[in-house]
Formats: sequence, structure tokens, C-alpha cells
Amino acid sequence: MECSLDCESRVTIKVEGLSYRYNSASALDGLTFEVERGELVGLVGPNGSGKTTLLKCLSRVLTPCSGVILLDGRDISKMSLLEVARICASVPSEFSADVNLPVVDAVLLGRHPHVRGVWWEDERDEEVAMRAIERMKISDFARRRLGELSSGEKQRVMLAKALAQEAKVLLVDEPVAYLDIRYQLEIMEILRTLADDGVTVIAAMHQLSLAARYCDKLIVLKKGRIVACGKPEEVICEELIEDVYGVKAFVQKLPSVGLVVIPVATVDGGGVR
Ligand code: ADP
Repeated sequence: MECSLDCESRVTIKVEGLSYRYNSASALDGLTFEVERGELVGLVGPNGSGKTTLLKCLSRVLTPCSGVILLDGRDISKMSLLEVARICASVPSEFSADVNLPVVDAVLLGRHPHVRGVWWEDERDEEVAMRAIERMKISDFARRRLGELSSGEKQRVMLAKALAQEAKVLLVDEPVAYLDIRYQLEIMEILRTLADDGVTVIAAMHQLSLAARYCDKLIVLKKGRIVACGKPEEVICEELIEDVYGVKAFVQKLPSVGLVVIPVATVDGGGVR
């Protein structure tokens, strides 16, 4: 495939030979891939396959044992955490903020990488935070404290904080994990719109049908290795699901929703009665 300079400049994230170990155990093994500006990429694979570890390496929270990660052409190992945070916003799956923090302050924390010198948010910071609060439809509880919210509400607050960061790259770990089906669709629509507006989004997720429907590309991990990477319709099939998850599934293409994955039974016997 031809790749001109123009094509190269569209690449936001380039990963080459990335490996990570926790003590002696390998979690990521020689990953190589590229993500273009404005792509919505679904990171899928079973529990323990390395999705969270990869997101943490991409946000520079973890330092790889080997390999290179280029963010907008720059080696992130040579960038400060603050520099990375100005480009890359992360939404972890687990929520560790102070339970007494009001929602609006939690969202304002997203402005932190942009504030220079002494912390004091200005009018523009407040404006950006309020826009994020409206976009995530959390205005009704913006004055409540984090500890008073349901898991799904907290998840939307964390996404609002990431939006307030105005990053070019959004790394989201299980964005719809705690959400009801209505909010699952709404969040996926928001991620899709962000990508269409030029934000590069990488989302680790377990909902294969949603991932297939909304993502431009899927990266499939198994035991820390990429076993498939490409457009959802090129990647998702019954053989892959069986190989990666050990699950027999129906994969069907439905008009207007695209690929739908219906898990049927584990290959070692559990499942439908
Ligand atoms: P996923 O997000 O796909 O569920 P993870 O990236 O969390 O996968 O985990 C990948 C592997 O690394 C798993 O085998 C997991 O047990 C291991 N692992 C994750 N975090 C740690 C840690 N802090 N210390 C040791 N091993 C870890």
C-alpha cells in the first residue's frame, strides 16, 4: 500500500514492538499498529488480554519494557506527563476520585493540564466544563457529590471530565460498562461524533455488537498479542470469537444496525440450556 507524507501526517498514534511485563509476567507482547486522526478504535479481547495495560502505556502511566509509542510523531517516553495530558485524555474503568468532590469540580479537574502556574480556573475553563456537563447530560446532578452517584452516573462524569480536557486523543476503558442500553447508545453516539469531529478515540470494550457498529477499526487482543486488526466487518466472525473468547457465537448482519454478535455457548460446554 502506498503511504505518502500526507498519509503519514494523519497518523496520531504509532506503536511499534510494544511490550510490557508486570514483574516476570508478560502482559503485552510486541504490539505494532497505527491509529489515524479521527478514528474510533475499539480495543476488544477477553478479560486479562492486555487492554487496560495498553491504554496505560498509551497515556504514559506505564513505561513499556520495549518498543516505541509515537503521539503526533513524538516519542512519548521523551514527553512529560503534563505534555501527554494536553494531547491525551484518559477515562479509567475504575473510579478513584474523592467521594466528597462535587461533580462540577470533578469535571473542572479536566482543565488541569491547560492551567499554567497557580491553579485557578478562568471563565473559559468554566465555559468548557459546562459544555462538557451539558453534552454528557449530567446537569441535573452537577452540584451533587461523587459519592452520591450511581456507577453509570459517575462514568458519565468521568467522560465529561475528559471532554473538558479538550484532548486530541481520548483513551477510554470500558465506556459503557455500567450503563443501561439507552446510555450505552448515547455514549457510543458521543464517541462517534467526537471522532467525526477529528478526535482520535480508543475504547476498550466488551460489547462486540456496539463496537462493530460504531468503530472504524477493531484491535483484537488475546494474551497480550494482536490477533486481528481492521474494519469490524473484516475482523468479526464466528471463528475469531471462538478462537479468542472460547465461545460459540452467531454473527449476523442486520439491516440498519450492521453486525450483531450473539454468544451461544462456551466451547467447553456451558451456555444455552
Ligand atoms: P484487560 O484490560 O484486557 O482485562 P489487563 O491489561 O488488565 O487486561 O491485564 C493483562 C494482564 O496483566 C493480566 O494477566 C493481568 O492479570 C495482569 N495485570 C494487570 N495489572 C497487573 C498488576 N498491577 N500487577 C500484575 N499483573 C497485572
